[in-house]
This record gives sequence, structure tokens and C-alpha cells, in this order.
Amino acid sequence: MHDDGKLTEERIDRMLRDRVRPAVRPEAAPVTLDTWHGTSAPVPVANSGSSGEYRGAEVGDRWGPPWSTTWFRLRGEVPTEWAGRAVELVFDPGFDHRRPGFQCEGLVYRPDGSIVKGLNPRNEWVRVSEAVAGGEPVEFHVEAAANPVFLGDHSFTPTELGDPDTAATEPLYRVERAELTIFDNRVEQLVHDIEVLDQLMRQLSTDDPRRWEILRSLDRCLDAVDPRDVSGSADRAREVLTPVLRKPAHASAHRVSAVGHAHIDSAWLWPFRETVRKVARTVSNVLGLLEEHPEFVFAMSQAQQFAWLERHYPRLHRRVRSEVAAGRFVPVGGMWVEADTNMPGGEAMARQLVHGKRFFLDEFGVETDEVWLPDSFGYSAALPQLIALSGSSWFLGQKVAWNQTNEFPHHTFHWEGIDGTRILTHLPPVDVYDSELSAAELAHASANFAEKGGANRSLVPFGWGDGGGGPTREMLERAGRLSDLEGSPRVTVESPAEFVREARAEYTEPPVWVGELYLEFHRGTYTSQAGTKRGNRRNEHLLREAELWAATANVYHGLPYPHERLDRLWKAVLRNQFHDVLPGSSIAWVHHEAEREHELVRNELAEIIDRAQRELAGSGSTPLVFNGAPHERDGIPAGGAAPSAAPVTFVELSETDEGFVLRNESLRVTIDRRGTVTSLYDPAADRELVPEGSAGNVPRAHPDLPNRWDAWDVDAFYRNNVTELLDAEEVAVRQNAADRVSVHVVRSFSDSRITQELTLRGGAARLEIDTEVDWHESETLLKLAFPVDVHTDRMAAETQFGHLYRPIHENTSWDAAKFETCAHRWVHVGEAGYGVALANDTTYGHDVTRWAKNSGGTATTVRASLLRAPRFPDPDADQGTHRFRHVLVPGADIGAAVREGYRLNLPSRTVHGDSPVEPLVTSDNPAVVLEAVKLAEDGSGDVVVRLYESSGGRATSRVTTGFAPVSVRATDLLERPWADGEIEHAPTGFRLTLRPFEIRTLRLAWA
Ligand SMILES: [Zn+2]
Repeated sequence: MHDDGKLTEERIDRMLRDRVRPAVRPEAAPVTLDTWHGTSAPVPVANSGSSGEYRGAEVGDRWGPPWSTTWFRLRGEVPTEWAGRAVELVFDPGFDHRRPGFQCEGLVYRPDGSIVKGLNPRNEWVRVSEAVAGGEPVEFHVEAAANPVFLGDHSFTPTELGDPDTAATEPLYRVERAELTIFDNRVEQLVHDIEVLDQLMRQLSTDDPRRWEILRSLDRCLDAVDPRDVSGSADRAREVLTPVLRKPAHASAHRVSAVGHAHIDSAWLWPFRETVRKVARTVSNVLGLLEEHPEFVFAMSQAQQFAWLERHYPRLHRRVRSEVAAGRFVPVGGMWVEADTNMPGGEAMARQLVHGKRFFLDEFGVETDEVWLPDSFGYSAALPQLIALSGSSWFLGQKVAWNQTNEFPHHTFHWEGIDGTRILTHLPPVDVYDSELSAAELAHASANFAEKGGANRSLVPFGWGDGGGGPTREMLERAGRLSDLEGSPRVTVESPAEFVREARAEYTEPPVWVGELYLEFHRGTYTSQAGTKRGNRRNEHLLREAELWAATANVYHGLPYPHERLDRLWKAVLRNQFHDVLPGSSIAWVHHEAEREHELVRNELAEIIDRAQRELAGSGSTPLVFNGAPHERDGIPAGGAAPSAAPVTFVELSETDEGFVLRNESLRVTIDRRGTVTSLYDPAADRELVPEGSAGNVPRAHPDLPNRWDAWDVDAFYRNNVTELLDAEEVAVRQNAADRVSVHVVRSFSDSRITQELTLRGGAARLEIDTEVDWHESETLLKLAFPVDVHTDRMAAETQFGHLYRPIHENTSWDAAKFETCAHRWVHVGEAGYGVALANDTTYGHDVTRWAKNSGGTATTVRASLLRAPRFPDPDADQGTHRFRHVLVPGADIGAAVREGYRLNLPSRTVHGDSPVEPLVTSDNPAVVLEAVKLAEDGSGDVVVRLYESSGGRATSRVTTGFAPVSVRATDLLERPWADGEIEHAPTGFRLTLRPFEIRTLRLAWA
């Protein structure tokens, strides 16, 4: 047989493009177009139509300065000769069809203000009627958003478009099409038959007889199409394909659970404001599809997005509610937003789950069973325990498929976290979370699935995200044809719950992955947009304080507990932990808003704390020191207040040719004339910490020019070039008190300035480093380096409710890829019997390396990443003044690192009064840390305590209460009864034993 395969394939392309597809809409009639160029802010439909300001417009008109809203009114009359036909309005305001989402969009309203559906680049139709009478008037209003395109060509070119104050005012779009059309469903069905078979054929081997069977059938099908009457010949042409479409899938074909989805980033290349509308457009499309396609199931994550819908689009929300009740619109994820998981603190990560799950329970009576984070930039090793404690049983991720270096070895597996909790985890092997159910994607899912042989099922989230409008009717037509088709995986449209039930049943002994799911990519997100990160870190700790002091004031003095305010403030902080906000990968507008919001939250929390502390302190004039940290500090109990009891301590200062020597009983620090630390001597251990020939506190500037994804990525080659900023303009003793000496260091370089205070206080084995950077660099990574004479091959880094170890060598590609990692309040390096901690109050990015000393052995350098200045998507990222606090603690074990981390982030407060405050709850074992002390969310007045084992060992603690509990019950994160049930207690407390890194939540009822 002669090989005419290519010729036939080209025939299929041409016939589809020029003959068959155009025949779906064989006739068109014009509509009258009017526009009202609204304000820059969204305007409700009621105000648009009634404004009387509509002006005549035409196809070809330009509209839409960046971020503006334009209302289009489309009016027409169905031609009488179309009687009996299905008719649709087609409106293309200027879509770039190559990229669904990320550009202009529209929401279609009827004149009465009710919503019809969204208009998106591959979804630009509005059904007028299934069967028109002919002659009837048609009128729709379209609220069109002129969202600028940022990622059109993926060139990452800096642009001013991301801030309404700097964006140009030229219109971005041009109306391309506005007309009524006949919609010929017979031809549409023929298109789907041909497309599905054509796509499938091209995935099959040329050795596969099935490929040739499909090719010949398509050839004969096209023979049957009459180009002068495609509609009339469509059914006959489809009949030719029926036998090939009826052949069932192979018995062992991969099984795909196709779940309708739209990954909508809560803010990113658009502000939160726009996401509210993106959600409405997508949801309105989904509701329409649910009506038309009984098999369709849609999963939506992020409680915040449902809350927006409820507030801004109550009618859509009511329809969603009834589809949720029917089990077809499925809330998933159990989190307030799809948060970053590297950086949120322990309690914040818990609250993402608490607020997410509770919202779905309260709104819909639905207990979500999974955490759904396909796009977050790596997954913290604390998550498995948190997922289990929230009452969920499995995890859906995906992003590690983006790894630059190593291919992650599993798609379905048990993921084990730092405490040993194992959670069933699925990373969809289709490697996208916005599939269009193309044959290529499905073939990839099947071929890529790593658990073949043991398991045979994967989940495919399908639907355009980010304003692409979600799943389309075309995708559902494809899914229907692929349910049981030879050569294709079997596709079933179903819910995530149905997927996981089957996945669990077929794979009873999945492999285990231990520790974090580190993303070998986007490592710059631990550092970009330092202001947003600082706001997050400060507010996480202020929230802890506000709850602690408000609960204490409530139990002791009856001061009303600010439930609603705390709920609102928590949600603001949680929202800004979204996976493009806290990581610093959004446009300027988003970061300005996040930082403003953090400021408002901070002020309000300060007020709550102040109110509660005043109530507790009483009316006297004695200075009382409040200690909000979970460990005793200078004689003040954790969670209590007392007059300062710090013993009198002294620091000696001497000046030598070399520089300044600061000395207390625990540490001797030498700071040279360049402002670097040339000696750190620990007298108790008789150890010099600064390796010979090196110096600590060295700022280092690296060119920071990643290949792609500027705000996201630090590429490994940044290390090849570095400037050590050793020149100091000023190194002088600034403060010299008996109990404290500070050395002031000023450095200027390029357009920036670094001002530091290096402080040693009496009695403490810690060097405090306060750094202020006035930053005006571009594409530069600033690090602060501390070499220490410690021989080790690993570092410990704090994560939520514990810490994890990471190798600091480069033995394997997995080790080498972790050249920049995330830590919370501290990192620790140690050898047997001795370690050093570096604690921080706002940084997350770190790298720790080892190097051979001339005298033998290795030393370790700890570097904190302070600032970047990527130019995309925010060209002015990180410009301005930033403050950082670090504490270097020689001789620290893990317990000391934990303590220093809390201490640095929870400075004490002094309030004048007359009554010392007994802690509401204390733990007598410093390894058992009280992460949260608060009142129960249900308003019962019960005290809720969340504590965890922080050292990685087994620990028993006596928990003492400042009140007499009548019952102590173990609960889950949501404060619901947990398996352990009632805990035996005395009037003043109880004993607890925790396994390594175990988190416990306890509810203490009192009279
Ligand atoms: Zn995303």
C-alpha cells in the first residue's frame, strides 16, 4: 500500500479549518453595538444601562485602557428566515485566541441585570435560543474588562502595566466581531468526531493498525462531506466514523478521572478586585454547563473565592449552593486560599485549613476531604500532619513536575511529613491543571504515570483557568467520546472523591516519599517583595499576641473577646498568603495593596493587644513587662507579665587597632574597622566561631539575572559573580551603656546604603544585628554571610510546627538542586555537642554551604537572602527602605534556636499598671511549645490551646492553667472532638506526652 498518510492528514487539517468548522455558523446577521466607557473601577450593571451614556460603536473600534471597564450593549433582531434554527450571539472584543485567560474578558448580562455567562477567548458565544421563531429582538449587555497581557510571549520584559498609576492610557483592544449566527449542532458534532479521532490518531504509533484504521475512516468521512451542503451531509459523514468511535478502549488502558476545574489565581497579574470578577465569569459558565451536561462535575477550591461570590454575586452564589447540594459543584481544598506552603507560619498554615474547611461546612455542610494545591511552589514537610489534623485524608499537588533538575519519581504515593504522618498524595501526571482533554495531554498522562503496574488511574483537572472561563462544552464533547475509545485512556468525568476512592482501592501499598516536596524552581520566591513578606511575618506574630492577651483578659477580667475582628484580620493575612502574593510574584498593584492591608491589620492588632494588656495591667504606674513568647524571658513567665526582673548585667567595650571588642560573660565579639565580625569567642566552650581568615556579617551582592520568571527564580549561576560589600563609611560605637554596646556600621554602594547596628547585651550569648537597607538596585541579590567554624553536612531549618534537615553538600543532583531554601525564624548548623543558630525576624531565603579549611576539616557559611530587585512582573520590586533583624547565637542547640526564633519575633512590651499577670496556660517543658492560646471559634468561651513538640524528640510536659478547667478535651484543628477524647486533669493543669513534632489542640472548658 502506498503511504498517503501525510497527504490525508493535511486534507483533514484543511477540510476542518476551511470547510467543516465554518459551517457550524453558516449564516450571520449584524447587531447594533453601543459602548459606555465606564470608570476605571467596576460599575454594577444597574448603573451602566440606565446611565443613558451609551454611544454608537462598530466592529473595529478600539476600547479599553489598561484596567478599565467598558460596557457593550448588543442589540439586534433574529432574521425571520432563521425560524426553527438554534441561534447564538458571537462577540469577540479582541481576544488573543492563543492564550485563554490573562487578557480581556466579559460578563454577559440580560437587560434585567441577570447574568448569562462569561465571554472568554475560547468561549465567545451566547445562546439566544435553541429554536428561534424569527423576528424576535435580542439584547445583551457585556461588562468587559481591559486586563493587560503580561505573559503573551513569555519574554518577561519589564512593563509599567502592572500599576494603574504607571500604566499607559492607550486602549489595549479592538472589537473583532459582534453578530448573531445560526448554530448548526449537526456540523458541530461532526467537528468533534473528526477532532477527537484526528488527535488520537496522531498520538498512535505509525506501526499501530489502529492509527491507519482511523486515518482511512477520516478520509472516507471527508469524502462524504459535501462542501456545498456540509450541514445536509454531516449525519452521513458521521455515520462513516461510527464504527471506529465504537471500538472500546484496551482492557488495560489508563483510567482518567476528568474533573472540571478552573485554576483561578486569587491575585497575580491582576488585583484581587479583578479575581472577584474572574470567579463570577467562570462560575456563570460552569452553571450553564451543569444545566446542559448532566454528567459534568466541577471542583472549585479557595473558600475566599466562594465568599467573594456570595458577597458580590449573590444570585450566582445561590445557584452554586444548589449545585453543591446536588454534588456536582464540588468545593475542594479546605483552605482559605491556595496558599504558598513554604513561608506561612505554623499557626497561619493551620488557620488556612481551619477557615477554609469551616467556610465549606458552614456554607454548604460539606466536609472537604483533600488539600488541593496544584500550583503552590513546593510543599512543606509539615503539611501531612496538618492535613490529617484538619480532618482531611489526601493531598493533590502538581508543581514539582516543574522541577528543573530531577524528575519526581511518583504520582500516587504516601507522603510522610516531619512527624511521621502519612497522607495519600496524587500529583496528576498530565502535568497541567488546565487540561483541554486533548489526546496529546491524555496520552502524556498515561505514558508519564509513574505508578504503572501498581496503579492505573490518574486525575486530570480540565478547564481554562485565570479568566479563561473554565471548562467548555467542547471539552465535555471530547470527554464523552473518550469514555471508552480504542487507543485512548478511558476518560470518566467525575468528582475528586470518586477518583480517590478508586485510587485507594487499586493501590493498597503505595510507595512512600519522606519530607518536603521541594520545588527545584522558583527559589527566588523566598526573597522577592520583602515588604510583603515582612508584613506577613509581623502580623502572624501580632495575631498570636492579640489572641493570647485577649483570651487572658477575657478569662481573668471578662473583657469581651474580639471574635469578629480577629476572624476578619486572620482572613486578611491568610488571603495575602496566596501563592503569588506572599512569594512576591505579582504585579506592583497587588503588592502595594498587600502591604497597605498588612499595615491596617498591624494597627488594628496593636489596638487589640494594647486594650487587653491595659485591662490586665490595671491602673498603677509600675512598668510591667509582657512576654508574649512561649518561653520565659529575663524572669518574666511565658504568656505573663511582671515588673522587670532582669539581673543587672554588664558589657565591656575596648578599642584596639583592629577595631572594637565587645565582651560579656558569655561571648566576646571583635568587630573590625570594616564593620565585619572577625572573632566570636565562646568562653564557656573555649571556641572561636569565626574560621581563620574569614569574617562574619559580610553583605554580598550578586547579579541576579534568571533565565525566565524573574520574580520567581534565582538560577544557580548567580553564585558565579559576587561583590563583597566590605567598604564602610562609618564604623563607630553608637550606644555604650553598662548593659549594652552597639557598633554602628554604614556602607554605601552603587545607589544603595546599608546601615547596621551590631549589639551585644549583658548576660546574653547572642549577637544582635539590625540591618536597614535603602535599596535602589536592579536585578541584584543581597545576602548577609556568616561563616562559622562548625563541621557538618546538614542544616536544620524551621518550618511549620517543627524543623527539617537538609543536606548542605552536593553529592547528588537532589542535594545540589537545593542551593537556595526556605526557613522560617531560624536555621541551625551543628556538630556533636555544639551548634550555632541564626534567627531572623523577616527573611525566608537561605543558603548554607561548607568549605575546606586550610587547617583541616570543613567550616560552614550561613547566608541569609535579604533582598532582590527583579524587574518582572513588578519593575520596581523591592525598591526603598527595608529592615531586618538577625540574631547569631553561638553554642545554640535546636531548643535554643526555637527559643531565639520566638523571642526575636515576639519582642516584649512594657505597660504601666499594678498587677502582674499570671500566664493563662504554661508548659513546663521548653520543648513543648504553646503555638496558640485563644478562645474557641464557636463563641463558647472555652480556652483553646495548640501546642507541639518542637525539638524532634518525645516530650512530656505539665501544662499549668491560671484558671480551673472543668474539662480538657483533645480536638482537631477545627476544635472538634478528636480521637483521644477527654484528658485527665487537676484544677491547675494536666500532663501530656507528645511524640516528635506532634501537634495537639486542646479545648479547656471552664465555669
Ligand atoms: Zn496559581
